[in-house]
Amino acid sequence: MAKKTLQDRSPESIAGSLVVVRVDFNAPMDEEGKVSDDTRLVHTLPTLRYLAHARAKVVLLSHLGRPEGAAHEGLSLRGVSRRLEELLGIPVDFCPETTGPVADVAVRGLAEGEVLLLENTRFHREELENDLSWAESLRHGAELFVNDAFGTAHRAHASTVGIAGRVRAAGGEALAGLLMERELRFLGTALTDPARPFVAVIGGAKISGKIDVIETLLPEVDRLLIGGAMANTFFLARGLCVGESLVEEDRVPIAQSLLERAGDKIILPSDVVTAESLASGASTREVSCDEVRENEWIGDIGPRSARRFAEVISSAGTVIWNGPMGMFEVPPFEAGTFAVARAAASAADEGAMVVLGGGDSAAAARASGVAHRITHISTGGGATLEFLSGKELPGVAALSDRVADPESRPEEDDN
Ligand code: ADP
Ligand code: MG
Repeated sequence: MAKKTLQDRSPESIAGSLVVVRVDFNAPMDEEGKVSDDTRLVHTLPTLRYLAHARAKVVLLSHLGRPEGAAHEGLSLRGVSRRLEELLGIPVDFCPETTGPVADVAVRGLAEGEVLLLENTRFHREELENDLSWAESLRHGAELFVNDAFGTAHRAHASTVGIAGRVRAAGGEALAGLLMERELRFLGTALTDPARPFVAVIGGAKISGKIDVIETLLPEVDRLLIGGAMANTFFLARGLCVGESLVEEDRVPIAQSLLERAGDKIILPSDVVTAESLASGASTREVSCDEVRENEWIGDIGPRSARRFAEVISSAGTVIWNGPMGMFEVPPFEAGTFAVARAAASAADEGAMVVLGGGDSAAAARASGVAHRITHISTGGGATLEFLSGKELPGVAALSDRVADPESRPEEDDN
């Protein structure tokens, strides 16, 4: 990896040091302020255990929700600290301040191997503005910053970008955490050195949010399978009737141009599951994609398409999958997505690298019971899409370089 990671630092070299860690604890909370899904917390445990065992003094920063720069009782991280304490098995202190005198005292009071979670960074507008003097106070004097919040790496905020710059300016290091490293390794390998055949499976609700991903992946992949509501826009581009289906008419020209440029790589569903409403238990028809009626909705890819998609996935060396094949949350429309999930899991069993991105796709993999067999399920939503679009993530760019830190690199010879 081009960026320094926590694994570049021995536990001995960290012992006794103050380490500020940006994590993504943006977990769903219930009305009582308790964490209702601790997946995001669990993902940070390897980094936190590494640091606690190394006897570092660990200060945790995270956002929760979108308080838009002002304190908001319902978005306090206090409940998160309680759940984290149970998961880590060591005490986790919580400080109701992020910066300021109370936070300073709490940080100074940390002993080796102790963990302190500070309050929601997004209670401060300086976070969203990437205010550098606030980032300096967020550093709390630490010379080691670890960013493990891959899901927030596409945001240039004070706790992701500003603080990394301040730590480096102070002569310290900004490192990728173990989760961040894992994300960059799998997503990066898929983009730069995929085992062939390289198959991308793209679905979900909208083409607009994923057009950059398709544009970037298309020249690289051997096959691009398109399902979900996204396929509807392509059907329209081919002049087919999509009835009442979810479709983005303003994106039809883009779909047309993609088909013209790479029609041989793109595989669209040849059949679909339709119904007069996308309600649970609706009565459905399995029809060829040119037999959709004006009063129908397309809710899933059809069985023939599911078999074809599964076949292509089975022979792949690398699979990137983002977006469900249909409205998998609603019972008669889950079969296509689950078939793709099973094929992806089997491909992974056979040694293919299968990388899954997107919150709903991850939920679909879990619902189909195969999530544990997928090589890597990305924890990012927007960050994963931006990475797969070939964009540099600001939170990653801000970390220390492995070879030579640009800020300390001598001027290059220009002759
Ligand atoms: P991800 O979160 O994995 O990136 P998206 O958010 O892009 O995926 O899309 C997921 C949503 O797309 C799901 O809620 C699913 O119900 C919806 N969806 C997929 N296919 C269809 C369809 N044919 N009609 C309506 N909604 C669909
Ligand atoms: Mg989604």
